[in-house]
Amino acid sequence: MAHQDRSPPAGQPKPQKTTTMDAAAPTHSHASWQRQLAEAIRDSRELLAGLQLPEEPLPAAEAAATQGFPTLVPHSFLARMEPGNRDDPLLLQVLPTGRESARAVGFTTDPVEDTAARATAGMLHKYHGRALLITTGTCAVHCRYCFRREYPYQDEPRRMSDWEPALQRIREDSSITEIILSGGDPLILSDDRLQTLCHRLDEIEHVERLRIHTRLPIVLPARVTDELLLLLSNLRSQPVVVVHANHGHEIAADCETALRVMVRAGIPVLNQAVLLRKINDSAEALELLCRRLINVGVIPYYLHQLDRVQGAAHFEVSDAEAGKLLTVIRSRLPGYAVPQLVREIPGESNKTPLL
Ligand SMILES: *Cc1c(COP(=O)(O)O)cnc(C)c1O
Ligand code: SF4
Repeated sequence: MAHQDRSPPAGQPKPQKTTTMDAAAPTHSHASWQRQLAEAIRDSRELLAGLQLPEEPLPAAEAAATQGFPTLVPHSFLARMEPGNRDDPLLLQVLPTGRESARAVGFTTDPVEDTAARATAGMLHKYHGRALLITTGTCAVHCRYCFRREYPYQDEPRRMSDWEPALQRIREDSSITEIILSGGDPLILSDDRLQTLCHRLDEIEHVERLRIHTRLPIVLPARVTDELLLLLSNLRSQPVVVVHANHGHEIAADCETALRVMVRAGIPVLNQAVLLRKINDSAEALELLCRRLINVGVIPYYLHQLDRVQGAAHFEVSDAEAGKLLTVIRSRLPGYAVPQLVREIPGESNKTPLL
């Protein structure tokens, strides 16, 4: 780690009480992840200054375009970026740019037709046996390529009682054996709220698995507390955690520790990544990501082709290029380290494999 300003020097004992100023140290209290979230960077000038990079004023029109989805980056994620590197692969995922206001043919506000799949408040049902719940619209980071950056979260459940229609739909449909908690990011919920929702789902006998789609263990690893692990381990149904990292540099420091802790607690952890121009569109980058994942026991699950959301065209990699990259990493890695390259095509009965 090259960031002495934010983490204790190597070999020195870690302080008992951690603060956001030493985000690389593992922490185990509720207050600490919530405080780190409250103190996350919400201004691109602060983000650039944190990496000793010059300010980049956005023209007014572009600034307005990013306003509904402003800069949001926890200090722990910043600590894994390389100071002085404007092309840092973690920075490029989260720094708003003028290119987001470009309009490209085929790039829309609802590229995967989520609204058409809305079964009832907060519930998307696209695939056999699995229903997905939009548990919150909030995340710990704003990824500039996010396919749900325009999702109408304001219409989704907030209070526990708002979940009753979705719970009723699940109770009535015994073909649904897996519930995916998504969002936003479900681990933004407090342990109390998460526990209440999980228990209501756990009570439904035909629910066999609870899958949590989350980026918090990657961008805000302090969220992986003993209490959270206990909550998941005590479920009747099988928990599965699917995290989202795109570059090997994300799997370092406190994130590496948090992933190890989850895996060693016996929770299956998978990763989905998105193939992103200039960020992970090389065999070297993908190989590093997959290797670091399997080295902590996390299985690379999907490598997604970008969902064509408005404002993200500059991140796209062609299918031909994607296929070539997969062929190379397949020749270099153990079979279980190679993710499936998929694209979500609206109306299909599953995510579509591209090879
Ligand atoms: C992607 C997705 C799933 C999960 O698909 P898997 O292939 O099982 O990972 C489930 N529901 C919805 C609405 C999805 O978009
Ligand atoms: S964490 Fe996931 S849902 Fe949230 S902004 Fe990033 S990609 Fe989108």
